[in-house]
Amino acid sequence: MKVPLLDLKQQNASLAAELRAAFERVLDSGQFILGREVEELERQTAALVNVKYAIGVSSGTDAILLALMALGIGPGDEVICPSFTFFATAGCIARVGAKPVFADSCELCFNLDVEDAARRITPRTKAIIPVHLFGQPAEMDGVMKLAEAHGMPVIEDAAQALGAAYRGRPVGSIGAFGAFSFYPSKNLSGFGDGGLLVTSDDTLAEKARLMRNHGAEAKYFHKVVGGNFRLAALHAALLSVKLPHLASYSEARIKNACYYTTRLRELAFIMTPGAHSDNGHIWNQYTLRVAPGDNWKQDGNPRDALKKHLAVHEIGSEIYYPRPMHMQECFAHFGPYPALPVCERLAAECISVPIYPELAREQQDAVVTAIAEFLEENS
Ligand SMILES: *Cc1c(COP(=O)(O)O)cnc(C)c1O
Repeated sequence: MKVPLLDLKQQNASLAAELRAAFERVLDSGQFILGREVEELERQTAALVNVKYAIGVSSGTDAILLALMALGIGPGDEVICPSFTFFATAGCIARVGAKPVFADSCELCFNLDVEDAARRITPRTKAIIPVHLFGQPAEMDGVMKLAEAHGMPVIEDAAQALGAAYRGRPVGSIGAFGAFSFYPSKNLSGFGDGGLLVTSDDTLAEKARLMRNHGAEAKYFHKVVGGNFRLAALHAALLSVKLPHLASYSEARIKNACYYTTRLRELAFIMTPGAHSDNGHIWNQYTLRVAPGDNWKQDGNPRDALKKHLAVHEIGSEIYYPRPMHMQECFAHFGPYPALPVCERLAAECISVPIYPELAREQQDAVVTAIAEFLEENS
């Protein structure tokens, strides 16, 4: 049975009439960048995340970059983030001229190990960027306590976690800034690149809003140096059609995750993903670990072998992420970085399997069967 990693056709087809109407509305308006449609999406998302300000931007990456710029972080500064994350978290730190300092991750939840982060603070540390990886909130009480003890701001990389809550508080609303992405693989999947920066701080919001549009208060009069981080009106209009369904998409992902865990928990050599009980995990990814014992018959990385096996059975999967950030070539000049054993193990053992909302029960069964068969063949 064919099981793609992600299938957006079904989801978007059910909203086709409304999406077309949104397109017509923007076409007729003649306003294609920022404007009413973007403001409407900003109002809706600010309410969802429970923040004063939401700022529509060109991507999740640009949301992180804009947050760092608005906080004035630059050369000579250090910013702590997890090493086991998508590149953008660390790349943006380097792009403003600061040094990314990497911390290890929690073995259970894959998120920032706060105790390890604490050990990496120096007089140059200027901010912390926890990541709500795979849709699970990071340990924010610990992160905020650590940041507050050192008078540092926190930027939440919530790109994978729009709608998730940490102890009842929406992620993105806890730190100074929260960054979200509408990249098609995220829970609120857009129609191109797009993102959102949120904050409840008046001064930071004003600064970020200015910097989104080349730092210009009035056209051609530039108060600060910013960039073009603007969101397209069409994209905002289309996202506004999908936003009311976000909660039901996440519900379906949670249900799919529960089913996988029930079925896969029993299998030897497979570690199902852990969720902290007080965390509102919204399962942007369902990420297994493949860690065989002594009686394993094959040479080579078993996780890579499983990926191949799944591909043969027409089952999509992805390695999020095969190389931690402290081992990336582009950051080598900042190093040498110390080893981060948990991150390195996760990078070798993790594999994400299809979890999208429209996934059918039979498709999930096919994934489970293929994994069981792979284990059977190799042990
Ligand atoms: C997707 C993602 C980003 C970047 O978002 P884009 O919209 O693709 O630029 C940043 N951080 C994490 C953890 C992500 O998953």
